[in-house]
Amino acid sequence: MPVMEIFALMRLMNIHAHYDDFEFTACGTFANFMDADREGFRGRVTVCTDGAAGHHRMSRDETAAVRLQEQESAMAMAGFELETLEYPDGARPKEGQMTAGPEMLAALWMSIRSFRPDYLFCPPLPSDVSAGLHVDHVVVAESIRRVAYLLNVPQAYTNFYPQLSPPWESIRTPVILTVSDSYMGTENPFDLVVDISDRFDLVCETSWCHQSQIREWLPWVGRHQFRPPENYSQWCDFLRQRVLARQQNLGLPTDRIFELFSLTAWGEIPGLEQLLHDFPGVDTVLSPIAELGRKIRRWKTQGT
Ligand SMILES: [Zn+2]
Repeated sequence: MPVMEIFALMRLMNIHAHYDDFEFTACGTFANFMDADREGFRGRVTVCTDGAAGHHRMSRDETAAVRLQEQESAMAMAGFELETLEYPDGARPKEGQMTAGPEMLAALWMSIRSFRPDYLFCPPLPSDVSAGLHVDHVVVAESIRRVAYLLNVPQAYTNFYPQLSPPWESIRTPVILTVSDSYMGTENPFDLVVDISDRFDLVCETSWCHQSQIREWLPWVGRHQFRPPENYSQWCDFLRQRVLARQQNLGLPTDRIFELFSLTAWGEIPGLEQLLHDFPGVDTVLSPIAELGRKIRRWKTQGT
């Protein structure tokens, strides 16, 4: 298939644990793709948990409703689709209680097969056992890793979805990349450094939608050095400083804003040329391209 034809049908999917995870990890890159091809692009953000646990004053039901509304506002602003993940029985996964078990794998299998993304973004798995983590992030990462091969096994979870029936359609397994995870500190290797400087306003605006998070919950939790911002401009300054400090820790320049991604061999393994063609904004000097090329060649040779 010609390269431009694939580009014109580009679908990006971000699957993460919580409301707001997307804004802090991949929003700028999605905006880069959208601006490169407004007609053919579709971006979908799938949030796995119901958001009910993330507040210290509101009830679980209130919290879930507020968090959903905040995410809906952010996605309407950015122009991306929002999906809230459901188990096969219609229930939403709960924070701190998900496992990478059959119901979770079935839910992700259905979600990914339904949208058919070209590129799928998800949280990473830590390679260093001393790295801190958020259990929900790791469960999502582990679940996607486990289900990846089964995406094109059309009867893998039909016992959960009896409404599905033959003939079974073959779907293309997406390329799967992991995003950077602040819970793991600097324990975040990366293959692609994507310049999102021109999209940083959108990152500020969409993350500002998550008022119950950034002004209430995250400062209260006290694990993220969050000071409650008094206004939008203070929030943008804080976020910029936070992102630049992380870049400095990773040895990256601080004159631009980047999002970082790592390629996995969980799904389709792309050619290096195709990957660099598809991704707008990749800094080919800062990204370890030669190393990535070697990794891809090794994976393809091994037939992973
Ligand atoms: Zn999260």
